[in-house]
Amino acid sequence: MLAVVKATPAPGISIIDVPKPTPKPGEVLIKVHYASICGTDIGIYDWIPWVQTYITPPVIIGHEVVGEIVEINGEAPHLQIGDMVSSETHIYDDSCYQCEIGNKHICENMKFFGMARDGGFAEFATIPIRTTWKNNPAVPVKAMSVQEPLGNSVHAVTKANVKGKKLLIIGLGPTGMCAAAAAQAYGASHITGVDPTEYRRQLTESFAYIETLSSLPKDRFNTYDAVIDMSGSPAGIQTAFDAVRIGGILVAFGIPKQKIEVDWGTYLINKELTIHSVYGRRIWETWDQVSELLTSGKIDLTKTITHEFELADFEEAMKVMKSGECGKVLLKVL
Ligand SMILES: [Zn+2]
Ligand SMILES: [Zn+2]
Repeated sequence: MLAVVKATPAPGISIIDVPKPTPKPGEVLIKVHYASICGTDIGIYDWIPWVQTYITPPVIIGHEVVGEIVEINGEAPHLQIGDMVSSETHIYDDSCYQCEIGNKHICENMKFFGMARDGGFAEFATIPIRTTWKNNPAVPVKAMSVQEPLGNSVHAVTKANVKGKKLLIIGLGPTGMCAAAAAQAYGASHITGVDPTEYRRQLTESFAYIETLSSLPKDRFNTYDAVIDMSGSPAGIQTAFDAVRIGGILVAFGIPKQKIEVDWGTYLINKELTIHSVYGRRIWETWDQVSELLTSGKIDLTKTITHEFELADFEEAMKVMKSGECGKVLLKVL
């Protein structure tokens, strides 16, 4: 079968033929219909330091998928052949302290689908039964593929506790866009988004009720009840600390490429902030929230999809991803 493989510990990717996988005990085999490219996949392609600790090539990459179950190897009373399923990216061990206290998404021994084990940029993929999400058939198939990033956004927005609040979102890539739509659905009183890319500002405005700016003017400093940083950039994080009001909430989501310096006294002490960090989605509470947003029609995720490519054209798709002039980029596999 055709697969997108991180073949060596170096920048770049290989699109090659590999053997079709067989599900191990406790796994399902899916025929992949669609997969979408994540910001993390750019990091994998470029071989940034953060991904190097999680990947040992060769491995099939890709974690945002939807596919049809063709084989089940083990006990899975909630699953059937033919079900359209997606995978939770965080493969938890179900035995550490975090798993025990209900924080499976931050398992101490977590392995990533499409990083530590083969993922979904391929015609077939295996997923552990315990991290297989059965999609509600009412959700459009293409949206099923891109619900994992919406999950990140919903988790971040939930921690920001946005109802009735003035919210600032920094970075309007797909997770920023989704955060805007989720914040709207959860009753934020006013949403501002900051991104230097005009394409992204316009796309976000067509997707959610939001005011967008290329940068935050100084007279907005100390005025936001909650700020979510989706950028991970030093400038974005600085803006987040400046923008949040005294006693406000700051949610960290974007992954910086380098160490970040924070003026501890000025921001953490003087402002008495509540800071949350978000790593993935709560399993399965966040997926249930996402499903409700999609089936109720509060969010139409298909509107975030701006490009579609065949799996064989992955290099082309990656070019679009890197340009930043895109929403979600979908790979049509079936
Ligand atoms: Zn992702
Ligand atoms: Zn665990």
